[in-house]
Formats: sequence, C-alpha cells, structure tokens
Amino acid sequence: MKKIVKTIAVIVDKCNGCRACEVICSAFHATPQYSSNNPERSRIRVIHEPLRDIYVPVYAGEYAAAECTGRNKYTIDGKDYDECAFCRASCPSRSLFTEPDSGLPLNCDMCESDPPLAKPMCVQWCLSDALVYEEREEEIAEEDATREELETGLESLAEKHGMQNLLDTVARMSKKG
Ligand code: SF4
Ligand code: SF4
Repeated sequence: MKKIVKTIAVIVDKCNGCRACEVICSAFHATPQYSSNNPERSRIRVIHEPLRDIYVPVYAGEYAAAECTGRNKYTIDGKDYDECAFCRASCPSRSLFTEPDSGLPLNCDMCESDPPLAKPMCVQWCLSDALVYEEREEEIAEEDATREELETGLESLAEKHGMQNLLDTVARMSKKG
C-alpha cells in the first residue's frame, strides 16, 4: 500500500526571523478560523539567539512528559546551537508547543483541511524560501495505514472537542457497553 509522506525542509540560513509563519499558523488554526493570531498557539516557533544572530524555525512534534537529561551543543558551519534549539517536543522545561489556555500539547498537522491546501500555510507565507514543502510516496503495510488513520482521527477529535471531553466520552461509552 502506498502512502504520501509530507515533510517541510527547513533551510535555517534563509530564515530572517520575520515570524510570518507563526502568525499564519496560529490564525489558520484559530476557532473560528482567522479570528485571532497568537504565536503562542503556533505549531511552528522561531527560536532566536540574539547574541549569535541565529533564527531556527522548529515544528511542533512529539509530546514529552519529562524533560530530557541531554544538554549537548551542536556546531554547524561555525555557529553554536543548543540542543533545545532543534527539539520539536512539547516538554515541561519550556513553554513552546503548549496551548496557552488548555495546556494541551500542540502538534503540526501539516494544515490538514478539506479541501486540501496545495501547500501548508507556513510554507506559503515564508517569503524567504526557508520552508520547502516536499511530498514523497512510501510503501507501508496495510495495518500500519489503518493505525495511522485511527490516530489521525483521534487527534483531530481531541483538537476539536478537547482531550478531557474525549476521554470522558470514551469512559461513558465503555460503561454503557
Ligand atoms: S516565515 Fe520564513 S523567514 Fe519568516 S520566520 Fe518563518 S521561516 Fe523564518
Ligand atoms: S504546516 Fe501548518 S500546522 Fe504545521 S506549522 Fe506550518 S502552518 Fe502550522
């Protein structure tokens, strides 16, 4: 079975720190859509290191219940980066990728919408070409595809109705059964 894998390549050196990606992501995901823009609700955040004049756009990824113990440094093209600069986790040691009102972790959903967008909003709004959208086909097992569909469905339900509501509903349904 074929699956389309969507990725966004980040060209760090092209990012000028304008934060248009943060603005449009938070507006696109606001309820109602475009009713507000608050970068703290964005699923992409631009990490800025003022002394070293470095901007790193980072996508919200996995949720981590505890902070990690590693604190490495990376040196790339003569610039020093903290390990956290590249980390996509919603983690207790920083406020990134946590929904400010509910405290729920934020996750980039590639702007899934109906009808689908030609390109994710942050890519469309990045005039510096620092974000490059790519699609590729991958062969996957059928049971993996079913599991992913189920997970994606649960994620969007949780986003729409809130994780606690979803858990309460599941608990009620399992009692009825
Ligand atoms: S829109 Fe592009 S250039 Fe601007 S902060 Fe985001 S990634 Fe960087
Ligand atoms: S792809 Fe969409 S959801 Fe992900 S960071 Fe960009 S605008 Fe936000």
